[in-house]
Amino acid sequence: MQYVSTRGESPPVGFTEAVALGLAPDGGLYLPEALPDLSGKVSEWEGLPYPDLCYSFLKEFATDLPDETLAQIVQRSYQSFTHPGVAPLQQLDEDLYLLELFHGPTLAFKDFALQLLGNLYEEQIRRTGKPIVVLGATSGDTGAAAIQGLLGKEGVNIFILYPEGRISFLQERQMTCSGAGNVFPLAIQGTFDDAQLALKETFADKAFSQQVGLSAVNSINLARILAQSVYYLYAWLLLPEEKRSMTTFVVPTGNFGNVFAGWLLGQMGFSIGGFHIATNQNDVLHRLVQTGQYEKGRVTPSSAPSMDIQVASNFERFLYYFTGRDARKVREVMAVFAETGSYHFEDFTTHGFTSSRASDKDISSIIRSISSRHGYLVDPHTACGFRDLDGLLPCIVLATAHPAKFPDVIREAVGADPKAPSLEALKEKPIVNFPLGASKEAIQTFILEKIDL
Ligand SMILES: *Cc1c(COP(=O)(O)O)cnc(C)c1O
Repeated sequence: MQYVSTRGESPPVGFTEAVALGLAPDGGLYLPEALPDLSGKVSEWEGLPYPDLCYSFLKEFATDLPDETLAQIVQRSYQSFTHPGVAPLQQLDEDLYLLELFHGPTLAFKDFALQLLGNLYEEQIRRTGKPIVVLGATSGDTGAAAIQGLLGKEGVNIFILYPEGRISFLQERQMTCSGAGNVFPLAIQGTFDDAQLALKETFADKAFSQQVGLSAVNSINLARILAQSVYYLYAWLLLPEEKRSMTTFVVPTGNFGNVFAGWLLGQMGFSIGGFHIATNQNDVLHRLVQTGQYEKGRVTPSSAPSMDIQVASNFERFLYYFTGRDARKVREVMAVFAETGSYHFEDFTTHGFTSSRASDKDISSIIRSISSRHGYLVDPHTACGFRDLDGLLPCIVLATAHPAKFPDVIREAVGADPKAPSLEALKEKPIVNFPLGASKEAIQTFILEKIDL
């Protein structure tokens, strides 16, 4: 299978190249040239353990990897999950399900994609013999999941910038206590935006990028989307057959990545009830669904920090389908949006999406009411999914993180202190980080010092 850019000005590439490149050379995002109809596979796939289902699904897409290699990569990627079901589906009520996506090494759903991506990178290095330097900036969960995905891998050095003093106690520990020699957490003096800017400038230096084999770890990699489609399929197959076509997936969303992965699965012959976009107070996507106006606002910190985003980078993938695969139109919309910060669409709401917005106050009272009604503690991101459930049942709410990652919000809401064994162990470990100025020069000097060229 070949992959095309949403902007239509780069040649199609195979799976492994699309994964290695991340962003297409024309600035677009990769998507399958044609989506397969997989509806004939349902009886074959029902009842498969998670890794087997993941392998069977990805085999349809990773057609330039030998089957045996892909099978090993997938098996290794989900071995690190602590629940035997990998993504267990809990039933809270007759028509209310919760898909637990927090049993990976960093207790958030990003492990599903980044464990796999880490192993795909390793395979690429083995094949090409070229070591890589992974550089990223994080405001929390992505950096931790990327580090866990690449930890100790031969030929990979990983540098993650984070704004010192602006991420949570546990998030910082997840990044700085790995003990691995190939992991360099860079504590930047400044904000996340300062870190992001320094990162962009470092990537823009093409000579340096090529010299060290710089690679981005971000939310737009094709492999991340496809890896996430799998848990929608897994959950859908676990539902009683008569409920499948009426069940809505409720997805706490920031970047549009997670919900897009589900929507894409729905385009492959599976009949799914619908998709609900649940935002926090940073509600750019909610406003889009309600009004057709895609308009970026100012990010205001919330108690669901991993969704504090105002530009949903994966939205471009949906836009490509929404415009009838018109790459010229995609370029036009993205250019107008980049220039003015907004774009108005006609008829946006007709595409099966619904949406809601949860304030910090809503989040707190939802955590309380789910706890008292169902005896279940949801994390602040997952809580956003419960804002507007009337009319959405039957539904599956995606539980994107473990409540123990956000102890302050939980304590404030219900007075309880949720615990997770892996986080308890972290509290005792020493922090190892590298304070650095937020500039291209500082980053480049540091990287060159640490790697053997
Ligand atoms: C990243 C993240 C989200 C948002 O996911 P998107 O793919 O950006 O929509 C939601 N919840 C948690 C816990 C996250 O880490």
